[in-house]
Amino acid sequence: MALDVLVAGGGLMGASAAWRLSARGHRVTVLERFGPGHDRGSSHGTSRIFRLAYAEPSYTELALRALPLWRQLEEESGRAVLTLTGAVDHGPPEVLERLAGVLARAGRPGRRLSPGEVAERWPGLRADTAALYHPDAGRVHADDTVAALLDAAGRRGAEVRHGVRVTEIRRTGGGATVVTDTDEALVADAVVVAVGGWAPGPAAGVVNGLPPLRVTQEQPVHFPVPDALEWPSFIHHPGAGLRLPGGVYGLGSVDGVKIGLHGVGPVVDPDHRDRTPDPAALDRLRAYAEEWLPGMAGTGPEPLTCLYTTTPDEDFVIDRQGPVTVLAGCSGHAFKFGPALGELAADLVEGGPGLPRFALGRTAPTR
Ligand SMILES: Cc1cc2nc3c(=O)[nH]c(=O)nc-3n(C[C@H](O)[C@H](O)[C@H](O)COP(=O)(O)OP(=O)(O)OC[C@H]3O[C@@H](n4cnc5c(N)ncnc54)[C@H](O)[C@@H]3O)c2cc1C
Repeated sequence: MALDVLVAGGGLMGASAAWRLSARGHRVTVLERFGPGHDRGSSHGTSRIFRLAYAEPSYTELALRALPLWRQLEEESGRAVLTLTGAVDHGPPEVLERLAGVLARAGRPGRRLSPGEVAERWPGLRADTAALYHPDAGRVHADDTVAALLDAAGRRGAEVRHGVRVTEIRRTGGGATVVTDTDEALVADAVVVAVGGWAPGPAAGVVNGLPPLRVTQEQPVHFPVPDALEWPSFIHHPGAGLRLPGGVYGLGSVDGVKIGLHGVGPVVDPDHRDRTPDPAALDRLRAYAEEWLPGMAGTGPEPLTCLYTTTPDEDFVIDRQGPVTVLAGCSGHAFKFGPALGELAADLVEGGPGLPRFALGRTAPTR
C-alpha cells in the first residue's frame, strides 16, 4: 500500500531515504530548511571515501549492499558519483591483519604492501609499518550525490521543498503531523527524521532511546596538487608511527587531495558556530603532511568545515517508533553506505525489521 511519507532533512540520509521510498511507490515529500547544495551540515563538498575494509564485518556487508545501488543511482540520475581508485590502509600490523581477514571472509580482494611498494606505486604517500591495498574503494562526489538522489527521487514522483524548516513533529492518529516554520501542518502516514547535527532537537522529542549525540565541527583541508584524481583513498591508523587519536584519512578530489583527522573537532551548536578555520587544527594537518605526504610539498592547504554527529559507540541510529523513523548519529562515516541506509529506512517505514546495531535504546559501550 502506498504511504504518504514526509522526510525532514535533505542531506545524504534524507535524500537516500526519499529515493528508495519513492522507488517503492510511496508518495514522498522532502522538507529541507536550507537551499540546494548548502554547506551548513554534513553532506557538502566534492569527496567522501567509499571503502569495504572495516574491522566490523557488518559494515563491510553494508558497503557491499550499497555498491550496486550506487551504480543504479548513477544510471537513473545520469551523474557519475562513485569512482573506484582503490584504498591504502597503513599503520599497526594487527589492525591491517583484522581488515584483511574481514575482506577475505567477504570474498573480496586485498593485498599486503610494504612501505617501499607503496612509495613506488604512489610516490606522494609515505606508509607506516605495514600497508593493505583493496581495489573496491575510492571516492564519492558528495554534492553530486545529494543532487542525484533528490533528482532520482523527483523523477519517481517525490516533491522536494527547500527553504522549509520543520519545527514540530506530533504523533496523530495512526500517523504524524509535521509543523513547519510557516505554520503549515502537514499530515502523513509516516515521517522520516534525517536532520543530521540538528537531531538532538526534532528527533529527541518524538522518539525514546536516542543515544547522546555529540555534534562537532571538523576541519579537513585540501592540498591542491595537480595529480589529485590519481590518488587512492587512504587511512593512516594510529598506534605504530602515528600518535594522532582517530588517525588520518585522505583521498583525491577535484579540489585537491583532502586529508582530515577523525572526530576531534570542538563541540558546537549547528545554528551558532564560527566557521573560521582553527589555526591549530590547520597546523596539525600541515605537520602531518610534512612528515607523511611528500606529494604535498610546496602546496598550501585550504580548510573547510563540516559537522560530525557522533554516538557513543560510533554506530548509526536507524530505527522506527510508531510512524517515526529516525536516521541520525552518522558518526563521520555514513556517506559510503547512503543508498543502502535509504533501503533500510524504507524497510522500516513499511514495518520491516531494522538492524539491532542501529537500534534506538541499545546499550553499547562507548568507543
Ligand atoms: C569532514 C567530513 C568528512 C567525512 N568523510 C566521510 C567519508 O570519507 N566517508 C563516509 O562514508 N562518510 C564521511 N563523512 C560522513 C558523512 O558525510 C555523513 O555521515 C553524512 O553526510 C550525514 O548526512 P546527514 O543527512 O545525516 O546529515 P546532513 O547532511 O547534515 O543533513 C541533514 C539535513 O537536515 C536539514 N535540517 C536540519 N534541521 C532541519 C529541520 N528542522 N527541518 C528541515 N530540515 C532540517 C539540514 O539543513 C541538512 O541539510 C564525513 C563527514 C564530514 C563532516
